[in-house]
Amino acid sequence: MGLIVQKFGGTSVGSIEKILNVAECVRGEKERGNQVVVVVSAMGKSTDQLVNMAKEISEQPNKREMDMLLSTGEQVTIALLSMALNQKGLEAVSFTGWQAGIMTEPVHGNARISKINTDAVQKQLHAGKVVIVAGFQGVTEDGEITTLGRGGSDTTAVALAAALNADKCDIYTDVTGVFTTDPRYVKNARKLLSVSYDEMLELANLGAGVLHPRAVEFAKNYNVRLEVRSSMEKVEGTVIEGEATMEQNLVVRGVAFEDGITRVTVLGLRNSLTSLSTIFTTLAKNQINVDIIIQSTTEEGAANLSFSIHTDDWIPTLNVLENNKETLAYDQLDAENKLAKVSIVGSGMISNPGVAAKMFEVLANSNIPVKMVSTSEIKVSAVVEEKNMLKAVEALHEAFELGQN
Ligand code: ASP
Ligand code: MG
Repeated sequence: MGLIVQKFGGTSVGSIEKILNVAECVRGEKERGNQVVVVVSAMGKSTDQLVNMAKEISEQPNKREMDMLLSTGEQVTIALLSMALNQKGLEAVSFTGWQAGIMTEPVHGNARISKINTDAVQKQLHAGKVVIVAGFQGVTEDGEITTLGRGGSDTTAVALAAALNADKCDIYTDVTGVFTTDPRYVKNARKLLSVSYDEMLELANLGAGVLHPRAVEFAKNYNVRLEVRSSMEKVEGTVIEGEATMEQNLVVRGVAFEDGITRVTVLGLRNSLTSLSTIFTTLAKNQINVDIIIQSTTEEGAANLSFSIHTDDWIPTLNVLENNKETLAYDQLDAENKLAKVSIVGSGMISNPGVAAKMFEVLANSNIPVKMVSTSEIKVSAVVEEKNMLKAVEALHEAFELGQN
């Protein structure tokens, strides 16, 4: 007998009909003789609706109360799914995050799981029940309810799979797997049969919305066998594992993209030795995430600095930089909005020189100016204007032969 963790996302539980479909999926796994833990998201767009209600009251709602509010979404689903299973003659019990022993650090809105006490879940599994756990939420040592950041139910599922030493974690969603790029935008995007943890981590961090990046991090650290698959179509999904075992011949495996990027330029930093550390320490203290950083030195020995951020962070960044102008000792500030980041990812890049060169050639041939660049061993990202984003994605997808034959 195996132990399987199944996770169903918002669209897969978006209506009563769909919840009944999920119950069938769970029944299938149970009938194969497995113990089953099910993690669910809130129904459909209900988390967004909760966010909107809070925004009607306050532009910056209290973070504790926000977690209190958002955690209710998942609680609706667990109860309904448990009823559906019981109705079908399968014994089930639902648990909120705290009941399932999911402990987090004391941060509201984006907490990390710190440990999981699996006793309660294990007890119910041994009693033969299906255990249904609310995704995206946990509790602090002090008993405060927290949430794990948007999309965080994936992380609940993988963390539970790791803590329970499950044989497998299946992430059921509204697409049939991980694609070479977003199939909603690029018609001939192809489903990948397998990707490595590292490739998936890059793809998830670079804008492929299919998995929460922290879920992939967990899966990698605890070696959880992960599969992304469809809750509606019974077809093979994408397996995420240590080494991609199939299709290894491809140097580039996928193209990820993300809009809403701003490039900030700080000119004439006079204390060039310490300016980098002061700027980025100040931004970090204000919870501003900086992505790509480029520095150059002027003939007079001052430094010019460009960095990219999410456009959502632009106003706070501007405030931080202006409020600290004296200490940071710069001449001028500048920003460019409406940018996007397009990235190519693949483990094969490590041993194949010339991949970046080819990327820039493709972009140049498509008349797409590149504003910033960053690379790692297995990815190259280029910042381009938002209006060129999809053109760049299509050209790269084509040039690296990622499409269906
Ligand atoms: N319901 C939460 C969200 O919409 C968590 C999740 O679905 O993973 O972000
Ligand atoms: Mg999701």
